[in-house]
Amino acid sequence: MLTDQQILRIPGPTPIPPSVQRAMTQPMIGHRGQSTSDMISDIRPRLKRVFGTKQEVIILTGSGTAGLETAVVNTVAPGEEVLVLVTGAFGDRFAKICKAYDIQTHVFEVEWGQAVDPEAVKNFLSEHPEIKVVFSTFCETSTGVLNPIKEMAAAIKEVSDALVIVDGVSCVAGTETEMDKWGIDVVVTGSQKAFMLPAGLSFIAASERAWKKIEANPQPRFYLDLKKHRDNILKDTTPFTPALSILFGLQQVLELLEEEGLENVYARHRLMKDMTRAAFNALGIPLLTSDKDASPTVTAVKPDDFDAEEFRKVMKKEFALEVAGGQQHLAKKIFRIGHMGYCSPADMLQTIAAMEIGLMKVGKEIELGQGIAAAQRVFLTEGAKAK
Ligand SMILES: *Cc1c(COP(=O)(O)O)cnc(C)c1O
Repeated sequence: MLTDQQILRIPGPTPIPPSVQRAMTQPMIGHRGQSTSDMISDIRPRLKRVFGTKQEVIILTGSGTAGLETAVVNTVAPGEEVLVLVTGAFGDRFAKICKAYDIQTHVFEVEWGQAVDPEAVKNFLSEHPEIKVVFSTFCETSTGVLNPIKEMAAAIKEVSDALVIVDGVSCVAGTETEMDKWGIDVVVTGSQKAFMLPAGLSFIAASERAWKKIEANPQPRFYLDLKKHRDNILKDTTPFTPALSILFGLQQVLELLEEEGLENVYARHRLMKDMTRAAFNALGIPLLTSDKDASPTVTAVKPDDFDAEEFRKVMKKEFALEVAGGQQHLAKKIFRIGHMGYCSPADMLQTIAAMEIGLMKVGKEIELGQGIAAAQRVFLTEGAKAK
């Protein structure tokens, strides 16, 4: 086996495109110099398009969770009550952050593997007018669910003035995100998922309404104070030293996204999801989520007659192909295939074909080629539309 090859099919970190890797090897520059300002000035409008917003997208140095914590400390005023919609491990993380700050936290939990029902959220909020902020997860990476954020935001607005905060870490840049049109107040994402970069940056945008609240919020914060970050980015700079190497990479990522076209990027992700799901359906292996709730960036498989952990080990050993396991109570029960960022339908054909061998090796009786044929058929029908 090639000792330096690895096939990363986990939902983050994701593979990095070669041109992005090269961009990140540029020599260091001064973070207060003109080249850094020029770079930030170039990045700003391009990043807004990916979020679907006219607002500034703040670039923080820190992984996705730093962005989540930033959302909490900036939008929740002392003494306020919040609601966290928990559809899996990442919704749970939002709840944990809120609790760490002693915020009175209502938790609305949905069975893991299912999406949140906007009507149910609406009913909950109409009974709890004291709730001032709602935290939600766009793609719940731990289950492969894409929550209906657009419908949810609309339903919330019918009964409540609460700010709507969305963790989009594992899908922004891989699925349509229209922050302004959908009435989302805060969108957070990170660099190492659909953004095809190493971990280390977090992006966060806030609506006009959210900014008013952020400006007036007496909650103490320093590094994560969004006001400081906004004042600086408006002048094409950052309050603290940015992760310059990742910013070099980000500029190239934006180039790639624009060359392909965002619509095509999203169609490619949907296609990879459909190919993956068709393959497992054809092999008679259960998926954790329904077609309707499935995320275009990650697919969770829930085997009922073979061991998910053993399968992961075999894939690693035979093909250096890495898939993720389950988190919390889904540990050892599922495996998760990441198909986001620098990942193509051709990569998925490779993944599925290798997985059929892995399945045979763990003793699952399948007919070789059944999964791959199903994925090929999806490509021939749907792929003709998605370029
Ligand atoms: C990966 C991820 C995060 C952030 O995790 P970090 O390890 O801090 O980058 C947050 N939310 C979701 C949905 C994620 O997938």
